[in-house]
Amino acid sequence: MQESFDFAADDLTFIRTALTRAFGRLAPFERPEPLWKLVRSLIGCRTYDVVADPALERLKQCWPHPSLLAGAQPSDVERVIGDVTYAKDKASNLVATLQWIGREQPDYDLSFLRFWPLHQALAWLERLPGVGPKVAAATLNASTLRMRVFIVDSHVHRVLIRFGFIGRNASAEDGRNAVTAAAPSFDADSLLELFAQMKKLGQTFCRPLRPNCPACPLHVRCRRVDWSPPVRVRSGPPRPYPAVLGSRRA
Ligand code: SF4
Repeated sequence: MQESFDFAADDLTFIRTALTRAFGRLAPFERPEPLWKLVRSLIGCRTYDVVADPALERLKQCWPHPSLLAGAQPSDVERVIGDVTYAKDKASNLVATLQWIGREQPDYDLSFLRFWPLHQALAWLERLPGVGPKVAAATLNASTLRMRVFIVDSHVHRVLIRFGFIGRNASAEDGRNAVTAAAPSFDADSLLELFAQMKKLGQTFCRPLRPNCPACPLHVRCRRVDWSPPVRVRSGPPRPYPAVLGSRRA
């Protein structure tokens, strides 16, 4: 058990070193308030940053406070973020999520999550409509909360499987947990930079179709595991509130 843990830690150190050599340092990153990071991550799933970033700015111009956005009609929100993928689903999830947060945290301040155990903070976020492992991890790690958790988007998930760091059937959540556990020496900033570097690898060398393995910075150690695109599952209705988690005021 210790051996496999050491092997995983060694793999991560190799990946970090090789990608830093290939892409250079990508930090520092802007760290928004956690509520707005949650909004940005929610609308940014499977959407280019150059599309999602302006969409967030338009949202903020139309509804400068989260409480105003919570009161918006989903169809109005959909019009404002119309160029992101799955705009209709994202608009209705966004409004439902903000309404849910507003009922429990009327000031929309999520800084209390910093003081919770990681698994509990993730669970609090992941029961919100449209919020999965990636959005929850981004909210905790890539915001002013600066919590030590690894973000796994579709690019990073693909790289982790092909590299052999996680199994072929492992979920993005499995990848998040495996990297977070295997990298105790990586602080929140290092984990965020590793995410950005692996995402860049997935957008350049390790693309979904025809990966460029001969030129890839990871090729000497990559197991080149077969990977198939996952089937997209539409987000469902809000899940019931788990009483065990409570809220800040509980
Ligand atoms: S060697 Fe190939 S499969 Fe492995 S990470 Fe690089 S591009 Fe992806």
